[in-house]
Amino acid sequence: MLVNTKEMLENARQGTYALPAPDFVDLDSARVFVKTAERLQKPLILSYAQALENMLSLEEAAAIGCLLGRESSVPVALHLDHGMDREFIGRAIELGFTSVMIDASDKSFEENVRCTSEIVRLAHDSNVTVEAEIGHVGQGDNFASFENSESVYTMPEEAAEFVAQTEVDSLAVSIGTVHGIYKNLKSPVLSFDCLHKLAEKIQVPLVLHGGSGTGDDNLHRCAVEGISKINIFTDFLTAAMEQIQKDSAADYLAVKRAANRGMADVLEHYYSVFAGN
Ligand SMILES: [Zn+2]
Repeated sequence: MLVNTKEMLENARQGTYALPAPDFVDLDSARVFVKTAERLQKPLILSYAQALENMLSLEEAAAIGCLLGRESSVPVALHLDHGMDREFIGRAIELGFTSVMIDASDKSFEENVRCTSEIVRLAHDSNVTVEAEIGHVGQGDNFASFENSESVYTMPEEAAEFVAQTEVDSLAVSIGTVHGIYKNLKSPVLSFDCLHKLAEKIQVPLVLHGGSGTGDDNLHRCAVEGISKINIFTDFLTAAMEQIQKDSAADYLAVKRAANRGMADVLEHYYSVFAGN
C-alpha cells in the first residue's frame, strides 16, 4: 500500500530504530527495494532524487513508484529526495508522491523557513508529508576534515525553532556525515553529543543523509540514539558493481541479475543494522 511517512517514521522514532531510505534510479532498483521490504515485512521509504532527473524523469519515477507502492504488501512511501524548487515539488505531489523533501539548507534561516513553510502548506493539503533540512550535509568530494568540510552542523536551538515555525513533519540534520564517498574511504567521526541534544529538543523524526560509507557501528548508534530515517545511495551502486564483477556476469541479463542481488543484499543488511536493540 502507498502511504505517507507520518506513521512509519513516528513508529520508528518511538521504537528507537531507523528506516532505510534507498534512492532508486530505474525500474530494477525500485523493484528490488520493494521486494526486499516485502520479504522482510518492513515498511519502505522508496526515494527518488531530483538530481537524478537525467537518468529517470519525475513522471517515470512517479509511474514506477506509484505502481509498485500500490501493489505492495507492506507500507511504501514514495519520497522525493532533495526537491530543490516549488515547481518540481508541486509536480511530484500532483503525480502521486506521498512524501517530499524541500532542501533549502544552503539558504539563510529565514529563507529556509519561508521556502519550507510554503511547501508544507502545499503538501499537507494533499496529505503529503514534508522533510526539510537545517544545517548542511556537504558533498564527499569536498570532504577533508571537520575544519574545512562544507558540512555545517545543525544547532539544536535553531532546529527546534525551525520545526516550530514551519510545522515540518521530519527534519534532516547534519552531525558529521557527507553525501557520496568519504575521502580515503574512512568512516567519519559523528557528533553523537549533537544528535542527543537534537533528539531531546525536537519532537519530529530526525533524518540522516549521507549514510553510505558511514560504517555499521555509527549507523546503528544513530538509529538507536535518535535518527528515524537514514538515506543510502552510493552503497547500492558499489554493491551492484561488486556483485557484477564477482559473478563475472557475461551478458546484459546476467549483469542485471547480479546488480539486483547486490542491491537487495545491501538493503537487507541495513534493515538489520538500523533495527533497535
Ligand atoms: Zn541527502
